[in-house]
Amino acid sequence: MRLDIKNASMDFFREKCKENNLKITPQRIVIYKKLLESKDHPNAEVLFKRVKNIIPAISFDTVNRTLLTFSKIGIVNIVEGYGEPRRFDSDIENHHHFRCLNCDSIIDFDFQPYDDILVPGDIKKRFIVLNRKVLLEGYCDRCRKNK
Ligand SMILES: [Zn+2]
Ligand SMILES: [Zn+2]
Repeated sequence: MRLDIKNASMDFFREKCKENNLKITPQRIVIYKKLLESKDHPNAEVLFKRVKNIIPAISFDTVNRTLLTFSKIGIVNIVEGYGEPRRFDSDIENHHHFRCLNCDSIIDFDFQPYDDILVPGDIKKRFIVLNRKVLLEGYCDRCRKNK
């Protein structure tokens, strides 16, 4: 659980919207709140269903577009490298992921040595490395019982 971090809260959301001149609408509040509560890195379709429970009239397109807008202003991360459809993460602090190859769940974890992982020399020479994100893959605790 990483709910305590400062960069994932309604205050942070309001602050960032103001900063980017993005109107704080009831729809946007609900979409962000639902993603904040979702610890499973949902895709737009999954999140749409959760938002629809609260705002029945909302369309998939609105939820999808809103998520992309959120990612543009930096309050939501698109989880890269997991194929389609895109998965979204309200946790924008650097952290690492474990992905289950069976049920496709993505679980957050922190591990200091991965934050400081060595960057190969030629990469270091050519690029500026800002983030180090490690992806572990395998079977989650629920799925390993069935393996
Ligand atoms: Zn699993
Ligand atoms: Zn994550």
